[in-house]
Amino acid sequence: MDKTEKNTDTIIEIKDLEFSYDDTDANETDAVLKGINLCVKKGEFLAVLGHNGSGKSTLAKHLNAILVPTGGAVMVDGINTADENSLYAIRQKVGMVFQNPDNQLVATIVEEDVAFAPENLGIEPGEIRRRVDYSLDAVNMTKYKDHSSSMLSGGQKQRIAVAGVLAMKPEVIVMDESTAMLDPVGRREIMETVKKLNRQEKMTIVMITHFMEEAAQADRVVVMDRGEIVMEGTPKEIFSQVETLKKIGLDVPQTTELLYSLKKAGFGLKCDVLTVEECAAEIENFLKDGGNSCD
Ligand code: ADP
Repeated sequence: MDKTEKNTDTIIEIKDLEFSYDDTDANETDAVLKGINLCVKKGEFLAVLGHNGSGKSTLAKHLNAILVPTGGAVMVDGINTADENSLYAIRQKVGMVFQNPDNQLVATIVEEDVAFAPENLGIEPGEIRRRVDYSLDAVNMTKYKDHSSSMLSGGQKQRIAVAGVLAMKPEVIVMDESTAMLDPVGRREIMETVKKLNRQEKMTIVMITHFMEEAAQADRVVVMDRGEIVMEGTPKEIFSQVETLKKIGLDVPQTTELLYSLKKAGFGLKCDVLTVEECAAEIENFLKDGGNSCD
C-alpha cells in the first residue's frame, strides 16, 4: 500500500497481514496470522473474538507496531507500521491497554501515573494538568487522583491504565483482553468506561476479548480462528450463527443460548436477540401468540 492511499473513514487498514514469530524458517503452516484483511473505521467499536491461541493478541500488537508484519501491511491513519521512523506517530495514535492491571501502573500516586507518559514526552505542565484532569474525569476516577495506585481494585487500576492512554490523546484505544483478570464488577466498570469513550468522546475502540457478552456490546465483531478471520458482522449477525460458533469452540451469550435451546426443542423463537430485555420480550411475545412466534 502507498502512503498516499488514505481513506478518510478508515483509521486502521490491515492488508494481507501475515506473521510468524520465528520468521527464519517461516512457512504457511506455522504462521500465527495467515492473510488478515480488516479495516477499522473511525469512531467504531470493534470487538475481536476468538479462543485462546487464535492470534488475537498477535493481531492487537500489530495495531501499534509492537509487532510488524512478516507479510502484507498494517496502515495506521495512512502510516505504514513497518516504517521505523513513524513509530512515535503510530504509538501516539493507537494506545494499548493490556491484560494485567498490576503491570501497567508505574507511579505510586494515581495522577502521577496518568501524567507519566505526557511528562516523558516533555509536554508543558499546563497541558499535562489539562490532560490528566480530562482523562481522570473520562474514566470516572477524579476523586481517586491523590490515592495510592496500589490500593485500588483491579477494575479501578485498569481505568487508570485507560486514563494513562487517554492522556496521550490517541485516536484509537486497543484493549487487549483488558478485562480478563478482573472480577465481574471490574469488568462492568471497564465496559461502561469503554462504551462512554466510544459513544461520547467518539474514540475508536478495538476490544480483544473472549467474553461473548462484551463482544455483544460492540458495533461490529470479527471472529478469529487459527490465525484467520472466519466471521465478520454485527453482534446479532454473529451470535445468531450458534452452530458455526460452537464448531470453532466459542460459546454464545447466555440469552442466545437459552433461545437456541428452546428453538432446538421445537419452540419457534428467534435467536438473534442479545440483551436480557430483548430475550424476555421474545419469550413474552411467543407466549402471547400461543406459541406461534416466527422462527
Ligand atoms: P490469542 O490472543 O488469541 O490467545 P496469541 O496471539 O496470544 O493468541 O497466540 C497465537 C499463537 O502464537 C499461539 O500459538 C501462541 O502460542 C503463539 N505465540 C504467542 N506469542 C508468542 C511468542 N512471543 N513467541 C512465539 N509464539 C507465540
